[in-house]
Amino acid sequence: MPVGRYAPSPSGDLHVGNLRTAVLAWLFARATGRRFVMRVDDLDRVRPGAAERQLADLAALGLDWDDPVLFQSERLDAYASAVDRLVAEGRTFECFCTRREILEAPTAPHQPPGAYPGTCRDLTDAQRDERRQTRPAAIRLRADVAEWTVADVLHGEVSASVDDLVLRRGDGIPAYNLTVVLDDAHQGVDQVVRGDDLLASAPRQAYLASLLGLPAPEYAHVPLVLNTDGKRLAKRDGAVTLAELAERDVDVLRLIGDSLGLAGDGPADWLAEFDPARLPRAPWVVTPPV
Ligand code: GLU
Repeated sequence: MPVGRYAPSPSGDLHVGNLRTAVLAWLFARATGRRFVMRVDDLDRVRPGAAERQLADLAALGLDWDDPVLFQSERLDAYASAVDRLVAEGRTFECFCTRREILEAPTAPHQPPGAYPGTCRDLTDAQRDERRQTRPAAIRLRADVAEWTVADVLHGEVSASVDDLVLRRGDGIPAYNLTVVLDDAHQGVDQVVRGDDLLASAPRQAYLASLLGLPAPEYAHVPLVLNTDGKRLAKRDGAVTLAELAERDVDVLRLIGDSLGLAGDGPADWLAEFDPARLPRAPWVVTPPV
């Protein structure tokens, strides 16, 4: 049976924009007869208690999910064996660059700014040995395409550049682009609904899936939620979490329903009304109460 998902990072409480994306992921999945699963991306920047509060907030909105929640911290062996396999296949290289060195290096032709410039791709054994003395290596994929294309329900065919993406960071933590691909496949996810800040990452993730022999999901990248300055909504913008808004008597479900043009009282009602073709395509601008 097909599956949709939501995958929060427990670095703090969810704000109303994250909650709206979660509602959309649930609606897309349930409206198409999918199972819906939850994953907590807890490999990095974890705030104690945040995962529990995020899940409680999602449940309070009326979202439900199948299967026990998957925590990435329980999957380290799976990530390590995927990296080992790509290393054994000769598809990787060790990289010693800092973020700053990458940003300051001239970009390779046909690659956007910030793309990996290839600095460590072809180091000699001697150069590699020398660099290993100074810094732990990250493992990067030796990408053999410059671009990849995915299908997105809202954006159509989306092509974006693929560079030598990081599989395992220098500090040993498996990289997001790897874990997302492995976990979506592991959970049987065939529909990924998330904020459109990740649209440009979808092609590289689908490319990595193809190298691992995994199917690429269908994507729906939904409009982000912005503050009145046109910037991505953040905690500093005022009352933005469920608890903060409830304290100010804001009906969060009504707020989200209005932003989606849905009249019913909550997710269960919205299911009958939900039509992806009528989803507002512009970012949702929120003025949080302070
Ligand atoms: N935990 C990631 C985030 O919150 C998930 C991204 C994704 O849905 O692939 O940004």
